[in-house]
Amino acid sequence: MNEFDYDAVIVGAGPIGGYLAQKLAKNKLKVLILEEHSEIGRPFQCAGLVNPKAMASVGLVNTVLTPIWGARIYSPEGTLVEIGHEEKVRTWSVCRKLFDEAVIIQSIESGADIWLSSKPINLEFKEDSVEIEILTPNGIKKLTTKIICGADGAHSWVRRTMRMGRPKETMIGMQIEVTGYMGKNGKLDMYTGSDISPGFFAWVIPSGDTARVGVWSQTKYIGERSCEELLNELMNNSRWSFKFKDCKEVGRFVGSVPSGILKNTTSTRVALFGDAAGICKPTTGGGIGPGFAHIDIIVDDFIDLIRKNKLDATSLSKIDKKIDKMRKSQSRARALRDAFLSHSTDEELEEIFKVWAKPDVIKMINEVGEIENPIPLGTKMLKDIPEFRKLAGKAIKAVLWS
Ligand SMILES: Cc1cc2nc3c(=O)[nH]c(=O)nc-3n(C[C@H](O)[C@H](O)[C@H](O)COP(=O)(O)OP(=O)(O)OC[C@H]3O[C@@H](n4cnc5c(N)ncnc54)[C@H](O)[C@@H]3O)c2cc1C
Repeated sequence: MNEFDYDAVIVGAGPIGGYLAQKLAKNKLKVLILEEHSEIGRPFQCAGLVNPKAMASVGLVNTVLTPIWGARIYSPEGTLVEIGHEEKVRTWSVCRKLFDEAVIIQSIESGADIWLSSKPINLEFKEDSVEIEILTPNGIKKLTTKIICGADGAHSWVRRTMRMGRPKETMIGMQIEVTGYMGKNGKLDMYTGSDISPGFFAWVIPSGDTARVGVWSQTKYIGERSCEELLNELMNNSRWSFKFKDCKEVGRFVGSVPSGILKNTTSTRVALFGDAAGICKPTTGGGIGPGFAHIDIIVDDFIDLIRKNKLDATSLSKIDKKIDKMRKSQSRARALRDAFLSHSTDEELEEIFKVWAKPDVIKMINEVGEIENPIPLGTKMLKDIPEFRKLAGKAIKAVLWS
């Protein structure tokens, strides 16, 4: 062994830890991934949507179950906004287990090591290294690394241990996988309304032979209710329950969606990534696309700092600064989400949907709308559609001028 056992130890073998490991290992850094579970991709809590840019970064179209090219979005009273054209795939519905495994295999093929059923239990910071104590199936092991990377998900041990704060918002998501849903191939369905997903939306995503039915919300909106109750409401008591009458549940998942990038994603010899850094989108809850994008933005400088072992808080804060644009864009997207959805009553939503359902607005959505970047469409709507002027009042400070 050299002076260091590893250049970087990455905690968490999710898609973000795997992608980071691959990038570092390809650049000849010595990388170890620690995963507390005995297998990759289980348990997972995800609707399995991977956007085209993220998919292109890893080239894993073989994990796709259904290409998604359109959406049917329903108002609380049932006004339908149907968007998308078959020739333009907007996002991919993947098998998350296969996807996560494949990302990790890519990192191993690039040279990274992985220890399963292993998790860090203590960190000791030295002048030029970190000593990590790791609980493994063969007892406690100690090793040294230049830096520790927390890619350990929404409840990140690294983030908590290093007291690096909390994401601005944490949404709760609950999802079941079913057979027998009356959907349309290639289209995801979204349902709104305070009975079903207060402040947010419920979804049904085609995923091969099954469909994923989910809701997400925040405690401040759901009060005494649980996400399970909301899901039951959608499937059994709502105006859409007929679509679920032949559904049989084959899987069930609950998880958190941390959104609002931490003020500091780095500190001395520590960097956080993915859900650990609060990177999920406030508009869709998607964490894979933005997690990959974060890594793409900082990776060259990060590798340089690791090579030089210049990993003090000040040097690392320079890579943190590089995602300021991403932070700002998430804040603007959140303001748009609040203006159009989260802060609207059911009656206000109904009015919004009536405008969205107009043919010229549907045309605008199809032309300008992007799942990953709702800002251009939202801003255009606020500026160009007279009915939305009063919404613009709500969002103007954060969206138009930030
Ligand atoms: C209901 C729901 C639906 C979602 N749908 C989508 C979607 O359609 N598209 C999308 O892009 N995102 C979606 N998300 C978000 C997405 O699941 C996450 O953003 C994504 O998984 C983040 O990847 P990650 O690698 O940062 O974390 P994770 O996928 O959570 O991986 C973290 C890994 O770290 C391991 N770990 C944790 N603690 C330790 C420890 N102390 N030691 C060692 N290992 C540890 C875990 O076992 C896990 O393997 C959804 C989330 C929810 C809850």
